[in-house]
Amino acid sequence: MTTYTKVAPPEGFSSPGLFATAFDKVIGLARSNSIWPLPFATSCCGIEFMATVASHYDLGRFGAERLSYSPRQADLLMVMGTIAKKMAPIVEQVYEQMAEPRWVIAVGACAASGGIFDTYSVLQGIDRIVPVDVYVPGCPPRPEQILDGFMKIQELVKNESLRKRYSPEYKAMLERFGMTTIKGS
Ligand code: SF4
Repeated sequence: MTTYTKVAPPEGFSSPGLFATAFDKVIGLARSNSIWPLPFATSCCGIEFMATVASHYDLGRFGAERLSYSPRQADLLMVMGTIAKKMAPIVEQVYEQMAEPRWVIAVGACAASGGIFDTYSVLQGIDRIVPVDVYVPGCPPRPEQILDGFMKIQELVKNESLRKRYSPEYKAMLERFGMTTIKGS
């Protein structure tokens, strides 16, 4: 018989028939367990990601069963593989098409820093074009590491204030990347 573990409720006040908590915490709990990732896989790290979503590691256990190949229906951009400078505007465009709130993981050395390809044609890290929330090291990282990075994103999502995306600091950060609009929400 299959057994399921329930997600723990957020902090709050409870008594028989009553549970009270903050709105931020309920939204954070729901969002962190229903992330829709957009896999942007260009090379070998993408193969590790395929293993991560396959039956043995099963990313779907974390509520991320539904991968999205449409930026407008995704909230987590996962960049996996070498990003050539020619491809950088495409990654940027995909990020810009995602609605807020949105998060980014750089999976593997290439996405994080260009990896072993310190050449004229390779982008030396996607954080030159989009803000990155979590870096997963390795060349390639194992599926366990990708899952660990994903769980770190879940922690960020769970604890994010609903006001963050409207804060002056967030707007200033977007401006540093040449982006001014806050879409969605
Ligand atoms: S980090 Fe290593 S395994 Fe991943 S895409 Fe680059 S060369 Fe391939």
